[in-house]
Amino acid sequence: MSKEDCTFCKIVEGEIPSTKIYEDEDILAFKDIDPVAKIHVLVIPKKHISSLNELNDSELAGKLMLAVPRVAQKLGVGDAYRTVINTGSGVGQTVFHIHIHILGGESLSWP
Ligand code: 5GP
Ligand code: ZN
Repeated sequence: MSKEDCTFCKIVEGEIPSTKIYEDEDILAFKDIDPVAKIHVLVIPKKHISSLNELNDSELAGKLMLAVPRVAQKLGVGDAYRTVINTGSGVGQTVFHIHIHILGGESLSWP
């Protein structure tokens, strides 16, 4: 999927509205449109990277990962949350712009 028809690039550009939770120069976090838990937020790099398999910028990878606890804290679930990264359509990746799901706000079954 090219940057031009990427939903999350459009969210970064403001072409598609979203409920933003956190934003800095490189990272954006916003509420998932179809939540599967009480709290369901997506953390993305602003730069278009289609999946974890294409992530080769260690500085950006660090920024993305370090944003997660900050966002979780902001959401009030800093003490208990689940992170998920789907990589590939075979396990349910539907938007090909890397994103970390933050899920919480209720007890979640595992596995
Ligand atoms: P994936 O299945 O690729 O891991 O996750 C994609 C997520 O993006 C899904 O949970 C889906 O609900 C969410 N999503 C898809 N389109 C939009 C949108 O336009 N806005 C928001 N906020 N979330 C979206
Ligand atoms: Zn994108």
